Amino acid sequence: MKILVSDKLADEALEILRKEAEVDYFEPSPEELLNIIEKYDAIIVRSRTKVTAEVIERAKNLKVIGRAGVGVDNIDVKKATEKGIPVVNAPRGSTHSVAELVFAHMLSLARHLTYADRSLREGRWEKKSLKGIELQGKTLGIIGFGRIGREVWKLAKAFDMKCLAYDPYASEESIRETGAEPSTMEKLLKNSDFITIHAMLTEETRHMISDEQFEMMKPSAYIINCARGGIIDEKALYNALKDGKIAGAALDVFETEPPGESPLFEFENTSFTPHLGASTVEAQIRAGTTTAEQVLKVLKGEKPDFIVNPEVL
Ligand code: NAD
Repeated sequence: MKILVSDKLADEALEILRKEAEVDYFEPSPEELLNIIEKYDAIIVRSRTKVTAEVIERAKNLKVIGRAGVGVDNIDVKKATEKGIPVVNAPRGSTHSVAELVFAHMLSLARHLTYADRSLREGRWEKKSLKGIELQGKTLGIIGFGRIGREVWKLAKAFDMKCLAYDPYASEESIRETGAEPSTMEKLLKNSDFITIHAMLTEETRHMISDEQFEMMKPSAYIINCARGGIIDEKALYNALKDGKIAGAALDVFETEPPGESPLFEFENTSFTPHLGASTVEAQIRAGTTTAEQVLKVLKGEKPDFIVNPEVL
């Protein structure tokens, strides 16, 4: 069995693969990939390698495509499905890492950490003007109550927060079971002290937080987006911050990445990171080892636990 690992992968994952297969580990260019793909039974990628329809067409021996992570935008899943090739991934690899980043941003906003750090380095001691708030007792509004949304709520319990959860595809019962309160979007927007977004980016969720939604928020509310850029309308966010409709915002994801000279950078009551949600040592190991295991399962004729196109099985 020959496996091509064409993006960076954790050593722990390579070790698992090398016990059972011959592994080539390097980063081919798109042209090179087209020329060599025929040799391989499996390919494992992260987000750099594009597994296009042409690559799949040329991959005469390919039995499985592994994505060491969640999103499969860089893989032509439709073509893989047509060819009967399973696409496996590691949907839970970064769940906890993203949830912790949400807390890093929430605490940063609540205690003005980014501004406090900057002003101190610039020689100022703004102790009086930088009074913050506690998370304890505050209402956390979670939009999208899936894997990450639920993990955020699990952590929020330790801070003694309350939770309003909005997810039109999750049953009220499954939300209540966690101790959160199922909510409409309107109730969540009107009552939350912190609002965090954990839905996927779809036509339905694109710009789901725009002018009308900012109007409903408390002027003391903070909003955090560690899901996907485009769910928050950045122009509307700019206006909401400018007009003091909310207290502040944190973004890990942007409508355009990298965002360049975003006008949002003029505000002090913000906290920004360059799409770091999944960027932890632990998440990379988890995503790599899970994907390696899934790929080997398919190659051995076993049923994978995480498959994007189950119809091929
Ligand atoms: P998930 O599929 O487990 O959860 C998404 C939830 O959103 C589901 O429960 C779904 O019912 C809900 N949803 C769908 N449409 C909705 C709508 N219109 N309104 C409210 N909720 C809606 O996914 P997950 O693993 O929890 O990931 C959540 C988000 O985090 C995704 O956008 C993913 O791309 C993103 N993510 C970001 C990073 C990062 O680096 N910042 C890393 C991993 C995942």
